[in-house]
Amino acid sequence: MEKLVRKIGLVAHDAMKKDLIEWVLWNSESLMGHKFYCTGTTGTLILEALKEKHPDVEWDFTILKSGPLGGDQQMGSRIVDGEIDYLFFFTDPMTLQPHDTDVKALTRLAGVENIVFCCNRSTADHIISSPLFLDPNYERSVPDYTNYTKRFANKPVVAEAMESASKRKRKK
Ligand code: PGA
Repeated sequence: MEKLVRKIGLVAHDAMKKDLIEWVLWNSESLMGHKFYCTGTTGTLILEALKEKHPDVEWDFTILKSGPLGGDQQMGSRIVDGEIDYLFFFTDPMTLQPHDTDVKALTRLAGVENIVFCCNRSTADHIISSPLFLDPNYERSVPDYTNYTKRFANKPVVAEAMESASKRKRKK
Protein backbone atom coordinates (compact mmCIF):
# COMPACT_ATOMS: atom_id res chain seq x y z
CA MET A 1 0.00 0.00 0.00
CA GLU A 2 1.25 3.48 -0.84
CA LYS A 3 2.43 5.35 2.23
CA LEU A 4 0.27 8.24 3.30
CA VAL A 5 2.15 11.50 2.94
CA ARG A 6 0.83 14.49 4.83
CA LYS A 7 1.87 17.96 3.69
CA ILE A 8 2.89 19.88 6.77
CA GLY A 9 3.74 23.54 7.32
CA LEU A 10 6.02 24.42 10.23
CA VAL A 11 6.57 27.96 11.51
CA ALA A 12 7.63 29.33 14.89
CA HIS A 13 8.13 32.84 16.14
CA ASP A 14 11.61 33.39 17.62
CA ALA A 15 10.55 32.87 21.25
CA MET A 16 8.87 29.59 20.29
CA LYS A 17 11.51 28.10 18.00
CA LYS A 18 13.07 25.93 20.70
CA ASP A 19 9.62 24.63 21.59
CA LEU A 20 8.85 23.65 17.99
CA ILE A 21 12.28 22.04 17.47
CA GLU A 22 11.75 20.02 20.65
CA TRP A 23 8.26 19.03 19.53
CA VAL A 24 9.52 17.90 16.12
CA LEU A 25 12.35 15.89 17.72
CA TRP A 26 9.92 14.33 20.19
CA ASN A 27 7.64 13.30 17.30
CA SER A 28 10.32 12.62 14.69
CA GLU A 29 9.34 8.98 14.19
CA SER A 30 5.73 9.96 13.44
CA LEU A 31 6.85 12.80 11.17
CA MET A 32 9.20 10.69 9.08
CA GLY A 33 8.20 10.30 5.42
CA HIS A 34 5.92 13.34 5.31
CA LYS A 35 6.46 16.49 3.28
CA PHE A 36 7.34 19.77 4.96
CA TYR A 37 7.13 23.44 4.13
CA CYS A 38 8.82 25.81 6.56
CA THR A 39 9.69 29.46 6.86
CA GLY A 40 13.41 30.10 6.45
CA THR A 41 14.87 30.20 9.95
CA THR A 42 12.44 27.73 11.51
CA GLY A 43 13.05 25.22 8.72
CA THR A 44 16.83 25.53 8.77
CA LEU A 45 16.97 24.95 12.53
CA ILE A 46 14.52 22.04 12.48
CA LEU A 47 16.33 20.33 9.63
CA GLU A 48 19.64 20.73 11.45
CA ALA A 49 18.14 19.05 14.53
CA LEU A 50 16.51 16.24 12.53
CA LYS A 51 19.71 15.48 10.60
CA GLU A 52 21.61 15.34 13.85
CA LYS A 53 19.10 12.92 15.37
CA HIS A 54 18.58 10.78 12.24
CA PRO A 55 21.73 11.13 10.09
CA ASP A 56 20.58 8.46 7.61
CA VAL A 57 17.08 9.76 6.94
CA GLU A 58 16.20 11.87 3.87
CA TRP A 59 13.79 14.64 4.86
CA ASP A 60 11.54 16.29 2.29
CA PHE A 61 11.82 19.93 3.31
CA THR A 62 10.92 22.99 1.28
CA ILE A 63 12.45 25.99 3.01
CA LEU A 64 10.78 29.26 2.11
CA LYS A 65 11.97 32.82 2.82
CA SER A 66 12.18 33.94 6.40
CA GLY A 67 8.69 34.78 7.72
CA PRO A 68 9.11 38.56 8.05
CA LEU A 69 10.76 38.64 4.60
CA GLY A 70 7.76 37.10 2.85
CA GLY A 71 7.96 33.48 4.01
CA ASP A 72 4.56 33.64 5.72
CA GLN A 73 3.01 34.87 2.49
CA GLN A 74 4.75 32.12 0.52
CA MET A 75 3.30 29.65 3.02
CA GLY A 76 -0.15 31.23 2.47
CA SER A 77 0.21 30.79 -1.26
CA ARG A 78 1.09 27.09 -0.75
CA ILE A 79 -2.05 26.75 1.39
CA VAL A 80 -4.36 28.17 -1.27
CA ASP A 81 -2.66 25.99 -3.90
CA GLY A 82 -3.69 22.95 -1.82
CA GLU A 83 -0.10 22.02 -0.99
CA ILE A 84 -0.49 22.10 2.79
CA ASP A 85 -2.88 20.00 4.90
CA TYR A 86 -1.49 20.79 8.35
CA LEU A 87 0.00 24.00 9.71
CA PHE A 88 1.81 23.95 13.03
CA PHE A 89 2.50 27.60 13.71
CA PHE A 90 3.88 28.18 17.22
CA THR A 91 3.08 31.83 17.82
CA ASP A 92 4.54 34.04 20.56
CA PRO A 93 1.58 35.37 22.56
CA MET A 94 3.71 37.97 24.39
CA THR A 95 5.37 39.92 21.57
CA LEU A 96 3.86 42.01 18.82
CA GLN A 97 5.52 40.86 15.59
CA PRO A 98 6.72 43.32 12.92
CA HIS A 99 4.96 41.10 10.35
CA ASP A 100 1.72 40.86 12.35
CA THR A 101 -0.39 41.46 9.25
CA ASP A 102 1.30 38.56 7.42
CA VAL A 103 0.72 36.31 10.44
CA LYS A 104 -2.98 37.26 10.44
CA ALA A 105 -3.22 36.66 6.70
CA LEU A 106 -1.67 33.22 7.08
CA THR A 107 -3.99 32.18 9.88
CA ARG A 108 -6.96 33.50 7.91
CA LEU A 109 -6.03 31.43 4.85
CA ALA A 110 -5.75 28.36 7.05
CA GLY A 111 -9.42 28.98 7.87
CA VAL A 112 -10.35 29.70 4.25
CA GLU A 113 -8.97 26.33 3.11
CA ASN A 114 -10.08 24.42 6.22
CA ILE A 115 -6.62 22.95 6.84
CA VAL A 116 -5.68 21.51 10.22
CA PHE A 117 -4.11 24.42 12.02
CA CYS A 118 -2.82 25.14 15.49
CA CYS A 119 -0.62 27.70 17.18
CA ASN A 120 0.54 26.01 20.37
CA ARG A 121 2.25 22.86 21.52
CA SER A 122 -0.61 21.27 23.46
CA THR A 123 -2.87 21.38 20.42
CA ALA A 124 -0.01 20.10 18.25
CA ASP A 125 0.32 17.13 20.64
CA HIS A 126 -3.36 16.34 20.21
CA ILE A 127 -3.24 16.62 16.42
CA ILE A 128 -0.23 14.36 16.00
CA SER A 129 -1.70 11.72 18.28
CA SER A 130 -5.10 11.79 16.60
CA PRO A 131 -5.88 8.57 14.68
CA LEU A 132 -6.99 10.79 11.79
CA PHE A 133 -3.40 11.96 11.28
CA LEU A 134 -2.51 8.64 9.70
CA ASP A 135 -5.93 7.59 8.46
CA PRO A 136 -5.71 7.34 4.65
CA ASN A 137 -9.51 7.55 4.45
CA TYR A 138 -9.54 10.92 6.10
CA GLU A 139 -9.49 13.78 3.66
CA ARG A 140 -10.19 17.28 4.79
CA SER A 141 -13.20 18.84 3.11
CA VAL A 142 -12.22 21.70 0.87
CA PRO A 143 -14.83 24.46 1.04
CA ASP A 144 -16.65 25.27 -2.19
CA TYR A 145 -16.36 28.96 -2.98
CA THR A 146 -18.14 28.80 -6.35
CA ASN A 147 -20.97 31.10 -5.22
CA TYR A 148 -18.40 33.61 -4.07
CA THR A 149 -16.21 33.48 -7.18
CA LYS A 150 -19.25 33.72 -9.48
CA ARG A 151 -20.89 36.55 -7.55
CA PHE A 152 -20.58 38.94 -10.49
CA ALA A 153 -21.85 36.43 -13.08
CA ASN A 154 -25.30 38.02 -13.46
CA LYS A 155 -24.44 41.56 -12.62
CA PRO A 156 -23.98 44.09 -15.40
CA VAL A 157 -20.96 45.74 -13.76
CA VAL A 158 -18.73 45.58 -16.87
CA ALA A 159 -21.46 46.99 -19.11
CA GLU A 160 -22.16 49.75 -16.57
CA ALA A 161 -18.48 50.64 -16.30
CA MET A 162 -18.14 50.76 -20.10
CA GLU A 163 -21.23 52.92 -20.33
CA SER A 164 -19.96 55.42 -17.78
CA ALA A 165 -16.47 55.38 -19.32
CA SER A 166 -17.91 56.20 -22.75
CA LYS A 167 -20.04 59.03 -21.33
CA ARG A 168 -16.98 60.51 -19.68
CA LYS A 169 -15.09 60.34 -22.98
CA ARG A 170 -17.87 62.17 -24.81
CA LYS A 171 -17.78 65.01 -22.26
CA LYS A 172 -14.10 65.70 -22.90
P1 PGA B 1 11.38 32.39 10.41
O1 PGA B 1 9.95 33.06 10.27
O2 PGA B 1 11.18 30.93 10.49
O3 PGA B 1 12.14 32.76 9.17
O4 PGA B 1 12.00 32.97 11.64
C1 PGA B 1 8.99 32.75 11.23
C2 PGA B 1 7.95 33.84 11.35
O5 PGA B 1 7.09 33.97 10.48
O6 PGA B 1 8.02 34.57 12.34
